[in-house]
This record gives sequence, C-alpha cells and structure tokens, in this order.
Amino acid sequence: MKAVIFREHGPVEVLRFVEDFPVPEPGPGQVRLRVAASALNRLDLFVRQGWPGLTLTMPHIGGADGAGVVDALGPDVSGWVIGDRVVIDPSLSCGECAFCRAGRHNLCEQFSILGEHTRGTFAEYVVVPARNLLRLPDGVSYAEAAAAGLVYLTAWHSLITRGGLKAGESVLIVGAGGGVNTASIQIARLAGARVYVVGSSAEKLAQAEALGADVLIDRNREDWSQAVYRLTDRHGVDVVVDNVGAETLYSSIRALRRGGRLLIVGATSGPQFGLDVRYLFGKQISLIGSTMAPRQDFEQVMALVFAGRLRPVIGASLPLADVPEGHRLLERGAVFGKVVFAP
Ligand code: ZN
Repeated sequence: MKAVIFREHGPVEVLRFVEDFPVPEPGPGQVRLRVAASALNRLDLFVRQGWPGLTLTMPHIGGADGAGVVDALGPDVSGWVIGDRVVIDPSLSCGECAFCRAGRHNLCEQFSILGEHTRGTFAEYVVVPARNLLRLPDGVSYAEAAAAGLVYLTAWHSLITRGGLKAGESVLIVGAGGGVNTASIQIARLAGARVYVVGSSAEKLAQAEALGADVLIDRNREDWSQAVYRLTDRHGVDVVVDNVGAETLYSSIRALRRGGRLLIVGATSGPQFGLDVRYLFGKQISLIGSTMAPRQDFEQVMALVFAGRLRPVIGASLPLADVPEGHRLLERGAVFGKVVFAP
C-alpha cells in the first residue's frame, strides 16, 4: 500500500513516500479502514522529531486523524459491515481500567494516540480498535470529518468539560491559526462566550474574526495582557486557553480576572516558565490541564460537526505523497486551519 513512513527520527527529510508497504491485518476487536482522508496535527511533527523515552517500532507511520470506509473486520467485531463510512476517534485507551470504566478514557494509564505509538493514518489502510469508530452520516465529507477529530475533541474537552465555559463569560484564546485554536474559537462562540483572540498577524486575526472572534489583539503591536486588561475595563477575562506554554503563560495569568481559569492544553514553545504564585492565591486563579478527551466528548462534538454547527477549517488539501510538504507548512506556521491528505 501507499504510505508515508520514517525509519529514524529527525527533520522533514526523514519522511519517505512508499508504495509497497504491507497492508495491515486487523486483530481481535480491530477493524481495517481504507483511508479516504487524513489530517495533520502538531503531534505528528513531535513524533517525527522524537523525544527521550519514545520508542517506536520502525518504520513508523504517523497520523492520528482519519476517516474512511470499513474494509476488513478482525475476529470478535460486531456492529460494523464492510463499506460503512466512519471517522476515527484517535484516543487509544485500554477500555478496562478504573478510569476507562468511569468514562474517563483520556486518563487511562495506557492512554496513547493513534499515530503516536502505533501506526497511523498517513497510509492507504489503517487498523484501529472497532470501538474507536464513529459512523459518518451521508453528506459529511471524509475531509471535514478527518480535519475535525483531534482538534475538536481537544478544544471541546478543555473549554466545556474541564473549563466549564458558560454563556456570557469571556474567553481569551492565545494564538489564532492553529487547528486547536480555530476549533476553540468556534466552540467558545457556540457556547455563548465573548471571544478574545491574540494573534501574530493581521491576516490570521481577520480569519479568526470570520470564525466568530469578537475582539482581536495583534501581539506585534501591543503588550497583549495589558490590552486585555484595558479592553475588559481592568477586570481581565474569565478563561484563557493557552497551548503555547513557556512564551505566553506568564501573560496568560496576568490576563485573567479574579477567580479566572487558565486552561493549559499544550506547550509548543516549551514547558518551563516562571510562576509568581501570588497571582494564584491573590487572584484565586485555577490552573487546569487538559489533553485529548473521553469518548463521550468526541461523540458530542462530532454531532455538532455533523450538524454543521461547527465547521472545520481546512487550510490545505494535499495528496498523500505530499505529507512532507504538510509538515513544512505547519512547521512554518504558513497555514490557517488544518492540512488534509487524500491517498
Ligand atoms: Zn484504561
């Protein structure tokens, strides 16, 4: 089958498009999909580069997000037939531990993500647990479903489940163009919140505005935590969503109002920062970490995507052979929204 593989960690150049990779066979409880669309996440860049302690079976195939057609059923699979249109929940959990039994799959001790430790969707075929499938309604494209998966479930779990965002609250989203940020803008808007966005260019901010952002702050033109303070009558915002980390967390805390919540959902600029704990107890701020989502959050947010109430932003559609080009686009921050591939 066609696939984009790598045999060692490193820069984009380690990626290879091949046409003779063995087609995987589904084991017990698993299903093989013919991939109709896959989508790129920052996770795929991190996995390609590797990190201490990450040991993969090489060659590796990246890709967490995908949608396609059921192609083969492993033993003990029921409820699906060959030809079903489906989208993949990219969260892999054991299904048996106390967290999984309590419906908190993203806290599973064996939690991982498709394409992170297992071979993913940048291929013609992928094998996934049958319980990770969700039926795709007619009229919803594979590309839209693949583009939605990881970023929408991540944004939904952080803002709604963990963050408890409510109508009438204010939320600041740090960063305009990334997949999680575009999803967060839409979900915050749908929840009835007032949405502030900090971005790095007028162009990205204009696109954030088109998605429903109410207040736009250009971080090249002013100190953005001061701008938030000024724009909120010196109160700050109720909720900040930060996936940048080291570069922004200090300002994110300063932008919060008293009793505010900081949702930490990633650390693309690095994991360490200096924390003045007086802000925490003085302003009674909550730090809330969030990653991925349990199954029921995936179903809830995808139902809104299927209903057209959330619209995934596709910034580039490329053939599978151009996965390396997708990595370059994302690395340079040269795309607004998701990069989608079709085999
Ligand atoms: Zn578990």
